[in-house]
Amino acid sequence: MSLAVLASRALYGFQAQAVRVETHVGPGLPNFLIVGLPDAGVRESRERVRSALLSGGFEFPSGRITVNLAPADLPKDSGRFDLAIALGILIASGQLRLPGPLAAGALEVLDRVFVGELSLTGKLRNIKGALAIAMAVARESPGMRLVMPESCAGVAARVPGVVVQSAGTLEQVVRDLAGGPALPPAEAPADPDAVASHACLSEVRGQEVGRRALEIAASGGHSMLMCGPPGVGKSMLAQRLPGLLPPLDVPASLEVAALHGLAGHDVAPTVVPPFRSPHHTASTAAIIGGGSWPRPGEVSLAHHGVLFLDEIPEFHRPVLESLREPLEAGVVSVARARLSCSFPAHFQLVAAMNPCPCGWAGHARRLCSCPPNRVLAYRRRLSGPLLDRIDLHVTLSPPQGDWLNGPEGETSGAVRERVLACRARQLARQQCVNAHLDGSALRQHVELDAASARLLAEASERWAWSARVVHRLLRVARTLADMRGCERVMLEDVAEALQYRPAWGN
Ligand SMILES: [Zn+2]
Repeated sequence: MSLAVLASRALYGFQAQAVRVETHVGPGLPNFLIVGLPDAGVRESRERVRSALLSGGFEFPSGRITVNLAPADLPKDSGRFDLAIALGILIASGQLRLPGPLAAGALEVLDRVFVGELSLTGKLRNIKGALAIAMAVARESPGMRLVMPESCAGVAARVPGVVVQSAGTLEQVVRDLAGGPALPPAEAPADPDAVASHACLSEVRGQEVGRRALEIAASGGHSMLMCGPPGVGKSMLAQRLPGLLPPLDVPASLEVAALHGLAGHDVAPTVVPPFRSPHHTASTAAIIGGGSWPRPGEVSLAHHGVLFLDEIPEFHRPVLESLREPLEAGVVSVARARLSCSFPAHFQLVAAMNPCPCGWAGHARRLCSCPPNRVLAYRRRLSGPLLDRIDLHVTLSPPQGDWLNGPEGETSGAVRERVLACRARQLARQQCVNAHLDGSALRQHVELDAASARLLAEASERWAWSARVVHRLLRVARTLADMRGCERVMLEDVAEALQYRPAWGN
């Protein structure tokens, strides 16, 4: 009778922290206790483990069984620890003898990580967060083997730097540990089709201003707010932004798929940047992440992609305020009573709004029916600090003339070629896109001539802009110069960038 120690992983936030599963089997009245902040799902493990052991032809020890999941202050959920607990009982009760010399007193298997929920018959069942766990093992213990249920081992095997072993049943794992036939290494499925089917930009006709702004946003990674009456093509434009962005590399696509896995929808990793478009009634928890067990929110599901907020003034005020942290830091922390955790949330914000509650203010052929104070209140719902964080403010008008029968616009593919070249320029110069240039890097990479500096100083004084707003403007001007293939920011770039500040309520 003794103590067995195995390695597993918790899943609290995006970091799948290491957990030691310590199982002690000793004499005494029959009892089976799990300690170390287990939730109800972990506590039910006792029934599954007992039944799986008996159906596998093993004995369930008659004495006291105590399982400690360490560290004790880290919350643990689900049936993911079943496999490690069952193996711990078999080792501690002497039913499973590990080959090789053993340290007296403690029986440890710490060169592998075990995750898997057991069915009552001893089959291993799918677990949530397989990708996040594999990424954590690769990051923190490269080369360590990860034993997982067959159903999710394939997707985890995509992660470089970790050897995933696929197991169908508890018995197979026991035989491998006892020195019998080894568990097979899991094989990653073939890489996804690199050709993404996107709605094409050529379908957006007669919206030159919007197309230009979208290309700027794609080229420099800028956030954008489109203001215009209904039907002017705001959503169509936003949906086409992912198709203009560079394809995701392997680590980014794995991160995106892992975050979606934590939210409960398993998706295969793809090269297409995600596009998320939550409804304006969404709660702060749905947008930022949260819930009784923290789940990633829309900002994290849009990680490495686009978050589109249509009718942004209609979103709840606290939701909009909560966007400030991820917009600045690229990460959200979800505070819980016990422990806070974080999810990556590095996204490009695209927002849209009508010019007024009825939608027709400023329209050439339709009348706005809103009283002026309601228009003001509507615009004020966007707070100054949030508006300050948006690089491009674009006013869209309905297309004029016979635009429906006009020529098709450029395709997304053609625009993306330019975007990729423009981004390559930025990365070669400063290792980031222009939207992420900080103050000192801006001074280094944007040198204004006298005329440009004067124009900027006048505008800045007239509108009483903060330094933050001026920096945004300089970043956009930097992108405009890069789009022209020019190292120097010229007067024309500053002048165009000035057009992308809001005409109201800044
Ligand atoms: Zn109106």
